[in-house]
Amino acid sequence: MKFVGLKKIVDIIKNIDNVYIVGHIMPDGDCISSVLCLAEGLKSMGKKVQGFIDWEIPENLKKLPLVNGIKKFKEGIIKPENLIVVDCSSPDRIGRFQKFIRDDVNVIVLDHHATNVYFGNINYVDANASSVAEIVYEINKMMNIKYDEKLATLNLLGILTDTGFFKYSNTTPLILHIAAELMKMGADIQKISFVINENRKVGNLYLQREAINNLKFLSRGKLGYSYLTKKDFEKYKIAENDFDGFVSEIRAVDTVEVAMFAAQYEDKKAHVSLRSKRYFDVSKIALEYGGGGHSKASGFTLIYEKSLEDALEGIAKKIGNLL
Ligand code: AMP
Ligand code: MN
Ligand code: MN
Repeated sequence: MKFVGLKKIVDIIKNIDNVYIVGHIMPDGDCISSVLCLAEGLKSMGKKVQGFIDWEIPENLKKLPLVNGIKKFKEGIIKPENLIVVDCSSPDRIGRFQKFIRDDVNVIVLDHHATNVYFGNINYVDANASSVAEIVYEINKMMNIKYDEKLATLNLLGILTDTGFFKYSNTTPLILHIAAELMKMGADIQKISFVINENRKVGNLYLQREAINNLKFLSRGKLGYSYLTKKDFEKYKIAENDFDGFVSEIRAVDTVEVAMFAAQYEDKKAHVSLRSKRYFDVSKIALEYGGGGHSKASGFTLIYEKSLEDALEGIAKKIGNLL
């Protein structure tokens, strides 16, 4: 287990001939952006590269260039010599690709989560980076990778989604500068915004109505939480993967400091998203439940016994007592 700087990472990656690049389950824009931009950069240097994610890609993101080239996990897949894991704080985040985290595979971790557990042989973790897409931009720049419009657009995607289109606290002068550089290279910000913000299935809106029905507040409105069940997703024919944003809606309420939203995706299993507004570190709560993330945006998998509502109430009371 080694922690290295950016220059060293670039030296190491330059000397690799073939590699699998793997992103996390329940992929977001940053994860998809990072897998593809690193893969394209290394491919252009003549290396054998394949990008993988052990999960369905959200439908809207499939509309962006090259996204359909990301492969899923397949039984019998050949063991790689090198594995680069992006945007993952712990090995369970890569789903079944975890089986390649072993002594005879060179595992390189590129991440920006403060909760990273350094599970690679080589780890580059910058908790001050807005996104892994920002780190990949720096790596590609140091490797003199030539950007076309497609690559620039894909690189900007991860930056935009992880900064909430430049509204979260991880928005820095540097990331605005990088975004400007990407736009100069042809990044299509309008296309990304259209795909992410103007492309909602109407069922998604109806699901928000259900989520509003389930919405509860505790601690004088400082905590807001809600959930949707697998049945809800089935009713409106929206995959759990294609529904997001509701946790941000809860955080946006004026009294709220912490927002929690749970989406059930399997029997007795839900993905829980946590957000905070000013001071509360939600990553501590996520870590307690076996997840991770950032101080203002974290998540974990909740396995519960009876009802999701009851399980959430227990967690909400715990958080509420801390507020
Ligand atoms: P989400 O609520 O899914 O948008 O995730 C918010 C943040 O928490 C992201 O930075 C994720 O990488 C992280 N995160 C979400 N779920 C998990 C999990 N099960 N384990 C570790 N980190 C997670
Ligand atoms: Mn991510
Ligand atoms: Mn990220």
